Amino acid sequence: MADYPQTVLEFNDRFHNEAACRAYLETLRWPEGPRCPRCPQAKVWTMKAPFYRCAACGHDFTVTAGTLFADTHLPLRLWFQALWHVIHQKNGASALGVQRVLGLGSYRTAWRWLHKLRRAMVRPGRDRLSGTVEVDEVYVGGERPGKRGRGAAGKALVLIAAQVDGGKIGRIRLARVADASTAALVPATTAAVSPGSQVLTDGWSGYATLQAKGYRHAVVRDSAVVGANLLPRANRVAALLQRWLLGTHQGAVAAAHLDYYLDEFTFRFNRRTSGSRGLLFQRLVEQALALAPVRGDELVGGKCPK
Ligand SMILES: [Zn+2]
Repeated sequence: MADYPQTVLEFNDRFHNEAACRAYLETLRWPEGPRCPRCPQAKVWTMKAPFYRCAACGHDFTVTAGTLFADTHLPLRLWFQALWHVIHQKNGASALGVQRVLGLGSYRTAWRWLHKLRRAMVRPGRDRLSGTVEVDEVYVGGERPGKRGRGAAGKALVLIAAQVDGGKIGRIRLARVADASTAALVPATTAAVSPGSQVLTDGWSGYATLQAKGYRHAVVRDSAVVGANLLPRANRVAALLQRWLLGTHQGAVAAAHLDYYLDEFTFRFNRRTSGSRGLLFQRLVEQALALAPVRGDELVGGKCPK
């Protein structure tokens, strides 16, 4: 079901108060009417808004219970503004941008908020890539993407998995890895790609055990040189990621922030053909509804860098 505002005016008209935001959440979460989170089959009574009561267990609940939105006493309107803002930042959202747009008093609050939104960008229970997948790893954070062993200081190593879709790139997965060892690369690859898939890599020994893990592993080149284009999809994603990071943060992405940006990049990339920012907004709201609340100490790194 597609149901979303197309323009900022539609957005402002539609989500003008808490009840309107709540009604939107209810439509997305409960297309067939309110359901008790404990007994989904039971009859539900409508109580004083925004509450519902389960006829079976007596539990009182609201549409935000058990979702990312339950996590705060801040208004839903502010949440919606934050989501709308993030969706419209072509080069990715920054904590400073979120702070300015929402008029938040502290950078810390904005930073924490951004990292909650990040969780909504990772589809809960998302599936792994399958079919034929190019896998490569690249250093990001410097002036240019680099390969292993080359000027790695101050950079982070990212594993890139890019699905082959004819001549095009299908979906992608990105993951920060500690180093280019088998112990780092193989678990990251198996988390991103389903067993039985064909995995194309260069001749780096770090991938040598994939075959034994149930993958059809094919080495497509021996020399690890960016631009050789024997893994054109992974290389293309690496270049786009690097450009995006540079455009957003002049490349200066702290290690603690990188996970967030990898997830945001993946979210945008895998929906790049949807054509509508409004649809991205709806998807982000849906995914936030599917998430359990997050505590501050569960955020990446556990604390704000500033
Ligand atoms: Zn119940």
